[in-house]
Amino acid sequence: MSRGPEEVPAGVLELDRADPLADLRSAFAAPGDGRIYLDGNSLGCLPHAARERVRLAVEREWGEDLIASWGRGWYEAPIRAGEAIAPLVGAAPGQVVVADSTSVNLYKLAAAAAAARPERPKLVTDAMNFPSDVYVLQGVAGAAPGRRLVVAPAHEDGVHPGLDALLAAIDERTALVVLSLVTFKSGYLHDAERLAAHARSVGAWVLWDLSHAVGAVPVALDRWGTELAVGCTYKYLNGGPGAPAFLYVRRDLQDALRSPLEGWFGRREPFAFALDAEPAPGVARFLVGTPPVLSLLAVEAALAPVREAGIERIRAKSVALTELAIALADEHLAPLGFALGTPRDAARRGSHVSLRHPDGWRVNRAMHDAGLVPDFREPDTIRLGLSPLTTSFADVWRAVDRTARIVAQGRHLAYGVERATVT
Ligand SMILES: *Cc1c(COP(=O)(O)O)cnc(C)c1O
Repeated sequence: MSRGPEEVPAGVLELDRADPLADLRSAFAAPGDGRIYLDGNSLGCLPHAARERVRLAVEREWGEDLIASWGRGWYEAPIRAGEAIAPLVGAAPGQVVVADSTSVNLYKLAAAAAAARPERPKLVTDAMNFPSDVYVLQGVAGAAPGRRLVVAPAHEDGVHPGLDALLAAIDERTALVVLSLVTFKSGYLHDAERLAAHARSVGAWVLWDLSHAVGAVPVALDRWGTELAVGCTYKYLNGGPGAPAFLYVRRDLQDALRSPLEGWFGRREPFAFALDAEPAPGVARFLVGTPPVLSLLAVEAALAPVREAGIERIRAKSVALTELAIALADEHLAPLGFALGTPRDAARRGSHVSLRHPDGWRVNRAMHDAGLVPDFREPDTIRLGLSPLTTSFADVWRAVDRTARIVAQGRHLAYGVERATVT
């Protein structure tokens, strides 16, 4: 080979030059020490706009204006942020709010749906779902006698769902189907229209967890006829650590559902302080209490680059990034014992690429010490999160090149196999 180490091929540099979203990288703080950040699917990079918004909120609104700030935009922020997210999930106004965490929102919506449909005792999810979602659903199922949760098994390849088993589990006794639109480990992208058609044919409702989808793949909740949805704002929406999540309730269901966590922010007139206050009309009834204002304002500001890019361009770049990563992994990593843990069909793939290696944990550690920031999911999966607004094609090339050198030279073998607390 005539190229030296780390010399990015001209064809890859050309992909970056031709990338219409390349300039938006400057809207984000660069990761420290020149690291190549491949974890935007877990915690998105810091948008400068979010930092500035939080600075203003801390120094002026909190520092000087104090309580008056509630009347100058803080109080409406959960609704306002929801309306800003709505177009990214294909929702008409009046159906999305930002509040609480994804886990809490899932609990509120799943419990409300189960309670509204007592004649249907079954909740259905699949083994590809994020374990926390399954824990939440176990709690909802356990809260009423006779109610149960069915977890459809994944395909034996560990990459795809067991679609036949999943569809068979969704029947006339099913109140609600809860799935991650993009699964956290393999990055499988469910066929939402097919699932919606099947669920509708037996009268089951669908709740999509959009955590690994929003800001990365097009989502059309209204068009799909989706009943309910939840999702994170700190992954591809870059809202920051612990930023509050969003929830969607289809308009025609809102007034028929009651939140199992009733609080004053979900009342018609919170400041009437009445003991018999009615739930707020519309989706606002799923608010509970005082929101984390600083994080909420960060979410709103963080949406600017995502909205500027537009989800179609984001998706196009995401597909191109994952295609490049897979092609390079096939060529350089497969011979070193890696297997692809992500669907090859781009139409069934989100924005991260999973690479499986029997020594995945140690390889992941060596990658970190080589300036790469992927993450690891048990037992053998290294995830490369390719966040379209902040990951370049050259980043992908360098990540594969460096990883191949590590493994070819056996550098990962110097590490221990004991796991860290956070992987
Ligand atoms: C990241 C993620 C969550 C996180 O939930 P939190 O309540 O914010 O901890 C939930 N569900 C899915 C599918 C996720 O990917």
